[in-house]
Amino acid sequence: MKKERKLKDLNEFQSWAKESAFVYPSSEIYGGFAAVYDYGPYGSILLKNIRDAWWKSMVQERDDVVGLDSGIFMHPTTWLASGHVGGFADVLVEDKKTNIRYRADHLIEKFFAEKGETVDMDKKTPEELQQIIEENDIKSPDGNELAAPRSFNLLVKSNLGSTDASFDEKNVTYLRGETCQGIYLNFKNIISTTRKKLPMGIAQIGKAFRNEIVARQFIFRTREFEQMEMQYFHHPDDTEKKYEEWKKDRMKWHTDVLGIPEDSLRFKEHAKLIFYATAAFDIQYKFNSMGDAFDELEGIHARSNYDLTQHAKHSGEKMEYFDQSRNEKYIPHIMETSVGLNRIFMMLLDDAWTEEQIENAKGETDTRIVLKIKKSLAPIKAAILPLMRKPDFQSKALDLKKSLQSEFMVEYDETASIGKRYRRQDEIGTPYCITVDHQTLEDNSVTVRDRDSMKQIRINSDEVMDYIKENL
Ligand code: ATP
Repeated sequence: MKKERKLKDLNEFQSWAKESAFVYPSSEIYGGFAAVYDYGPYGSILLKNIRDAWWKSMVQERDDVVGLDSGIFMHPTTWLASGHVGGFADVLVEDKKTNIRYRADHLIEKFFAEKGETVDMDKKTPEELQQIIEENDIKSPDGNELAAPRSFNLLVKSNLGSTDASFDEKNVTYLRGETCQGIYLNFKNIISTTRKKLPMGIAQIGKAFRNEIVARQFIFRTREFEQMEMQYFHHPDDTEKKYEEWKKDRMKWHTDVLGIPEDSLRFKEHAKLIFYATAAFDIQYKFNSMGDAFDELEGIHARSNYDLTQHAKHSGEKMEYFDQSRNEKYIPHIMETSVGLNRIFMMLLDDAWTEEQIENAKGETDTRIVLKIKKSLAPIKAAILPLMRKPDFQSKALDLKKSLQSEFMVEYDETASIGKRYRRQDEIGTPYCITVDHQTLEDNSVTVRDRDSMKQIRINSDEVMDYIKENL
């Protein structure tokens, strides 16, 4: 039996992700920039692979969903209509001594979790939170008194197109706090310029920005992140049926397409619904690196016809849809599935990262880090390794690389011993290492080593492309 270990905490996660070219802290040469991260050579490919997998399931393979790519900037009234200007807020509390700010709900949750109790902090007002803090004498993590909780708006303001003098509350523009508002604003355009009929969905992938209070959770909660959202427009009579279908579909995507084990995922129902919603569940994942705690990945929300009604009210445009099959005019109801690309990325690495005790060629115990990520999602699909740094090995290996790279991301590596090169590829999750050795020069065969079993087979180099395609 192989001995295995998973990531022990976020510190180990973050330093490994940096060393292996997945994620770098932002602006490091200037001392860093809180709650923003940059994605390195392997990280950026993994992000792309996740985006592609989501788009394929959501748009390409469905008949009832179309795509959209709307602007990050929108008319400022969008955010008044959506309720974000008035109500998109977290409640913060400040440590009276250090002036460090914390989310009040998170501090309270942590206080009770340490006593082995769970509390529900959904949608509590600053006054309710203050009462809990006082009744339980909750202090800051540094043991200091806390100031009274207050609301803190999460929208990020911009001075786009305005002079400094006019940069006031009336003229302010915002970086979008969620991507779905761009979908609501384009609903009418899409209905009138495509032949789509309800029920139908609009899907979009893009950046969103939130002035989050405290992060310190690596890429779990950042101020700039990417969302993959789908808004499904339908008749209110269909809500229940469609909701169940989407819940099932989305969970299946996490298990089947991403390869996450079922027992690391669960549904969590919101304890308190926002006034217009009729159902809200989150999909949560159990993060090894966050103390085996379940936390939110994706939200699935039945939002009634609130969004379109609000935009109709603020814009004066009619948002009704004439449903020919029912001979009825109505403002469509919306169901959304909203997932953070960066959280999926974090889950995939958290689930895949494994430290294994293995036996090396000499029969000794060795340690390797292997990223057991689903092969189809791995950043690099194959590494081509010449056994020796000699011209005939090198040119064979480079030819093979050339023949594969029109189809897959492949890497060529001729530095260090073959064992070290295998370890490097294991650590970034490369499914196949292909070695050009003495025999290749004689009969054109190469060895193909599997990342998980570490077993090698020998095949003709002309067959490598098909072999990889068949086994991804
Ligand atoms: P939370 O309760 O964690 O603050 P939320 O309920 O406000 O999140 P939504 O507004 O429903 O989140 O956003 C949908 C998805 O977008 C979340 O499930 C998450 O995957 C992602 N997301 C939200 N905020 C962030 C963030 N600051 N950083 C990274 N991903 C985020």
